[in-house]
Amino acid sequence: MVSRVIPVQPFDLVVFGGTGDLAQRKIMPGLYRRFHDGQMPPTSRVIATGRREMDSDAYRALVAQALAQHLPPELRDAASEHAFLQRLSYQPLDVSGAAGWTELAPRLNDDRVRAFYFSVAPTLFPGLAAQLHRHGLVSAHSRIVIEKPFGHDLDSARALNATLAQHFDEGQIYRIDHYLGKETVQNLMAVRFANILFEPLWNAEFVDHVQITVAESVGVAGRGRYYDAAGAMRDMVQNHLMQLLCLIAMEPPHRFDADAVRDEKLKVIRALDAVAPQDLVRGQYRAAGAMAGYSEDAETLRSDTESYVALKVGLSNWRWKGTPFYLRTGKRLCARSSEIAVTFKEPPHSIFGESEKWRENVLVIRLQPNEGITLGVMIKEPGPGGMRLVNVPLDMSFAEALGEDGRDMPDAYERLIMDVIRGNQTLFMRGDEVEAAWAWTDPVIAAWRAQGGAPQPYDAGSAGPDDALALMLRDGRRWREISG
Ligand code: NAD
Repeated sequence: MVSRVIPVQPFDLVVFGGTGDLAQRKIMPGLYRRFHDGQMPPTSRVIATGRREMDSDAYRALVAQALAQHLPPELRDAASEHAFLQRLSYQPLDVSGAAGWTELAPRLNDDRVRAFYFSVAPTLFPGLAAQLHRHGLVSAHSRIVIEKPFGHDLDSARALNATLAQHFDEGQIYRIDHYLGKETVQNLMAVRFANILFEPLWNAEFVDHVQITVAESVGVAGRGRYYDAAGAMRDMVQNHLMQLLCLIAMEPPHRFDADAVRDEKLKVIRALDAVAPQDLVRGQYRAAGAMAGYSEDAETLRSDTESYVALKVGLSNWRWKGTPFYLRTGKRLCARSSEIAVTFKEPPHSIFGESEKWRENVLVIRLQPNEGITLGVMIKEPGPGGMRLVNVPLDMSFAEALGEDGRDMPDAYERLIMDVIRGNQTLFMRGDEVEAAWAWTDPVIAAWRAQGGAPQPYDAGSAGPDDALALMLRDGRRWREISG
């Protein structure tokens, strides 16, 4: 299969925070890959800014190191890297002060798409939006890319939306949730809305329950200060897991366009029930084997911040009333694995008799590792000996099914940056969506605060706290195994 790369128009991209971790690890390697594939036109320009004093040559050397570190060897190509680095320049600039701004303006081209990537601390977002205006840098073709976290509760998200709205139209604001840029996440929409097969069964009558798991094997070391103020509910559930839930639960949009898709996602968030206290488990990892515990990783003596959340939530609408959605996410779990599992109900009657061990059909959408889709189907066990049944996976790994193209699928960030340049907001969160997500999250957090109590400890490298297991067992169900 030959991948189709449609070049975007030449653009100017200004990356605020160009020396930071995200820029070096994701943004620059991602841009290089789009350049190498011919999607980023060679006349485009990337202007990185940061507080550090250096010239453009020193910045190119920094990015060259980042490419060496973060690109797989098979994607490296000296000539292409050299040409890409020539597209980069650097401007020392203080986002909240005066330095550097007057030098930035003349570097931008008037009639091109102009994207400003806010890859700086969230506290700087409002001031940065105002500075762009103050210095006359916002043209008709301008857009801004906002990193997460977008607020830490409803009030702060509203305030940030209001500030951004003073300077930009909603159509110019790209709130990144990189989960939405993953191939499988988009495939979720393709599987649901491009096949007749699933949609008639995609409701409470046929779906027993849905499990959404985002398990990480890493701990919080290195970003403990940020994490300890946030916790798993704010860092993962309010955004990434919520977005996955929306794509699973939403009604078919009338068209695949940004507002049609986001209107349907918003309706899902608004239909979410409140989470009952007994339907929520908070956990925190403790030292086990050679692995440090949360306090050591987060460099706090004692903290009530959760590094794990499991919860059950229902949706009050016609499609889903009665089907529970189980969500879980955590740090320092036994594997890095993200998946959505849709478990269908058993057939109403077994013609094969009671003795047959029945297994439900489960559709598993794997986000990582090894993106792909598996459907468990019952078949006859081969060989003589009567009609014995066995559940086997219809298994599709995108990398295998798509051959070379699958192995070289764009990373979420590179895809999303190209969408920004194209002006396609479908995979970005709209302001009202973010606010609705916080409006659902805030009471959950307030309820456990009011209740008090510490998160339940779980061993680093385990599958999470015991209470999370009990949360599903109580309903006669089980979490799927977390395996990488
Ligand atoms: P970082 O601390 O590594 O880098 C911050 C950057 O901001 C540096 O380039 C620094 O020079 C610049 N900066 C700081 N103060 C400045 C000022 N006053 N004026 C100009 N530049 C200034 O941070 P990061 O990890 O790269 O994160 C950047 C943003 O991306 C944050 O909003 C973060 O929440 C978000 N984010 C990061 C990751 C990640 O994996 N690193 C993941 C998701 C979201």
